[in-house]
Amino acid sequence: MIAQTIYTAFDRAGQRITRPRRLIADRLAELAASGADFSLDDLWHDLREQDPHFGRATLYRSIEVLVNQGLLDRITYADGSHRYHVCHDNTHYHLTCVQCRRFVEVDLDVSVEQFASVCHQTNFSLEGLTLTLFGRCARCRNEQGDAPR
Ligand SMILES: [Zn+2]
Ligand SMILES: [Zn+2]
Repeated sequence: MIAQTIYTAFDRAGQRITRPRRLIADRLAELAASGADFSLDDLWHDLREQDPHFGRATLYRSIEVLVNQGLLDRITYADGSHRYHVCHDNTHYHLTCVQCRRFVEVDLDVSVEQFASVCHQTNFSLEGLTLTLFGRCARCRNEQGDAPR
């Protein structure tokens, strides 16, 4: 169960399972089931419907834990905004539309050994990796009237 995995992640990070964290876990489980992606504002809005006093700081801290533990993927855009989704496995990359921000998961034949060897050459130890492809989806290109002829 996703909710259970999330509780475990909070626990590992030393965060108590309070009612707000329970609400976060439940809502993320729903989002995982529908495959929807979301911004922090979307999530905060949903949570405030359950609890009008839901604190934004609690949400930020909780999301940070889940991103760090690899349960949530965070896509960062050039303007500094983010979108998130619940991971189903940890070996995929993202292709996202810079206009409507829809994103899809893609399989890329990228070998982690390649990064490890770059790190070895430069005397770094590899601790993390994010790779996102940015583009413009067919729908957004059509709206602009510059679809390929
Ligand atoms: Zn993902
Ligand atoms: Zn688009």
